[in-house]
Amino acid sequence: MIGPRQPECPVPSTPSRRRRGIVDGDVYVAPPDCHMLLVGDKIRLSQGPRHNGHRPAADPLFISAALSGGPHTIAAVLSGTLDDGAAGAAAVERRGGVVAIQDPAESAYDGMPRAAMAATRHAKVLRLPELAAFIDRESRCLVSGHTALPDPDLERQLSVFLEPAPRPAAQPSPWSGVTCPECSGPLQQEDTSVPVRFECQAGHAWSPESLLAAHAAGTERALWAAVLRLEERARLHHVLAETAEDQGTRSRQAASGPAPGPPVRPPGRSAGCWNPPGRREPREPPTTATTRPE
Ligand SMILES: [Zn+2]
Repeated sequence: MIGPRQPECPVPSTPSRRRRGIVDGDVYVAPPDCHMLLVGDKIRLSQGPRHNGHRPAADPLFISAALSGGPHTIAAVLSGTLDDGAAGAAAVERRGGVVAIQDPAESAYDGMPRAAMAATRHAKVLRLPELAAFIDRESRCLVSGHTALPDPDLERQLSVFLEPAPRPAAQPSPWSGVTCPECSGPLQQEDTSVPVRFECQAGHAWSPESLLAAHAAGTERALWAAVLRLEERARLHHVLAETAEDQGTRSRQAASGPAPGPPVRPPGRSAGCWNPPGRREPREPPTTATTRPE
């Protein structure tokens, strides 16, 4: 996605605004924390559920463009990790649009290109210069008139970003046995979706790879939390051990009687010649020479 501050970008690029009409030749960039959608001929921003853990995400944009533009849509998947964009690219192709994918061999991160290649059948895999020329050429082609047929499944996927409240699934699926990393709700596996998609009641949708990555991050957080709890338990045990040792010392002292006070001097003896009990008299030096017994 081209950023608005890249001076080498030859076309005007601006952050999108809600319900803005599209101007030919402009590039629109999704602002942070908003999905950018194409509804009819207008851009619409949504703070609907995160998709594959991201907001904005490529899949909702591609799905909305596929529904609005049908065969007039061109989707380009460039370098990126994991597999966001693959389901959207499949939707564009399903609606008669064209998909162009950056050659994974030249991509800094080949996850998204490879996932899009796996999800589509007729996508063009091109190096960047060829990809730009392909988009330019395709955008000038006349597309025969068509009537976009309804697509209830894609419309339902898009509706979660357009409606303020979560909506129940049209065809409730059995629980997949996996919980949603975003809200901990049960995830249902959409049996008919290609590629495979998991979705919770709140509308968080996950591809398998993104779900796996999110669960790995959750597992790491849980392990660090366990490490901290174990360290806290060790600290508490240390405090308990010190407390028990102090109590034991006091109990032993109480059992052996009161602690000895200062010694009392017997009457009649001056302080200068009396030694308290337990103190030894200073040894007098010998005054006579000792003789060896005969
Ligand atoms: Zn969820």
